[in-house]
Amino acid sequence: MTSQRPTSSDPRRAIPSTDRLLALPEVVAAGQRLAPQVIRRLITELQATARRGEIPPEAVEPRTVEAVQTARSSELSTVLNATGVVIHTNLGRAPLSNPARQALQTAAGYVDLELDLDDGKRSKRGAWAQAALLAKAPDAQDALIVNNGAAALSLATTALAVGQGSPEVIISRGELVEIGAGFRLPDLITSTGTRLAEVGTTNRTTLADYRSAITEHTGALLKVHPSNYWIGGFNATVTTKQLGALAAEKGLPLVVDVGSGLFEPDPVLPDEPTIAQALRDGADVVISSGDKLLGGPQAGLILGSKAALHKLAKHPLARAFRADKFTLAALEATLNAPSTPVYDALHADIEVLYARSSRIAEALDADVVPHQGRVGGGGGAGVPLAGWAVSVPESFARRLRTGSPAILPRVAEGRCLLDLRCVPPGHDDVILQRLKDLAAEDAA
Ligand SMILES: *Cc1c(COP(=O)(O)O)cnc(C)c1O
Repeated sequence: MTSQRPTSSDPRRAIPSTDRLLALPEVVAAGQRLAPQVIRRLITELQATARRGEIPPEAVEPRTVEAVQTARSSELSTVLNATGVVIHTNLGRAPLSNPARQALQTAAGYVDLELDLDDGKRSKRGAWAQAALLAKAPDAQDALIVNNGAAALSLATTALAVGQGSPEVIISRGELVEIGAGFRLPDLITSTGTRLAEVGTTNRTTLADYRSAITEHTGALLKVHPSNYWIGGFNATVTTKQLGALAAEKGLPLVVDVGSGLFEPDPVLPDEPTIAQALRDGADVVISSGDKLLGGPQAGLILGSKAALHKLAKHPLARAFRADKFTLAALEATLNAPSTPVYDALHADIEVLYARSSRIAEALDADVVPHQGRVGGGGGAGVPLAGWAVSVPESFARRLRTGSPAILPRVAEGRCLLDLRCVPPGHDDVILQRLKDLAAEDAA
């Protein structure tokens, strides 16, 4: 085997050594932010690039300095959401309000999560977040906070389906839904050994269907809001109120998964079920997500009767699903804040959207076109959010996404559309400047 070692005349010998690069003052300074192995990896990569002849040996040193100075501790990037989709799953669903962001900062250190600072004794974990939740839902007797809506549903059905023999919950065939990305609620529920007793048909289910399905195995009745689809035409569903009455008559708990976490009715979303109404209609347990319409952190919110919540809290899965301090802190701050970015985006004034879009379009000689935003995130299925978009060439889209900050537009019908509904107003000028730069690039 012939040796691949560089000879004395080989330019690769001029590649600076790792020790030399590590001793550069800028590299030493970067050691405050980056772990040694991260810095070594950057150096090794650049040396390898030079060895392959892709950059000259003398470029390794300046490139190392540049690499350590621009390297970030987290690759997560801020994105300006110009899609008009309010709860954008690929963008992390709900953006948090400023109070919630501050709460996350506080939670990052040692905090009195399970400690009463008054008497120095252990206290109930996250009691303040729970209190804020109960203040928002006065019809609930008790509340529990878990990791997400899926965990909440799994915990509720598992802990309550304790009928004799093989426990089961009764659900309408019209509510066996897939929420997104292959996440199917029936699979989740049955994964803990709970059986589903399916009643009715896809389009029609009656109260009699539920009634006749109740056996000694029945542990609970379940109603799921099919967040992302709706049935028109010949159909029938049983209301929460009717199910609540049947559950009470049979002494069974009724679990209602409302999905999106709307506490009170919202005229923008007339068909969205609310937590308050589900409780008033007789649900023993109401489940929702924290990062959909509530506009908070990822969380599963469980509200309901003392007896039912006690069973859930005692179940071993409650510990596996329990929310961390960040969730509890951000959730409490969200509940106590006057508004959320999600609420503001959903209720954006169409005149204001037009004025903002026009100001950008005029500066660019571009068009403003009508554009329908969406609620997104498996909520408000089919509800259009009338608004406007700045229309620029499709070729802008990729450059907008890959610039800094990243700007995510919508690409449709051969155009790149920027809907400002979910863009904080203070960022309009950032978008305008980037569009100007891209237009100038193309004109050059
Ligand atoms: C979104 C949703 C879920 C899942 O909640 P996650 O917080 O995403 O886990 C469950 N049920 C319904 C009806 C939903 O809309």
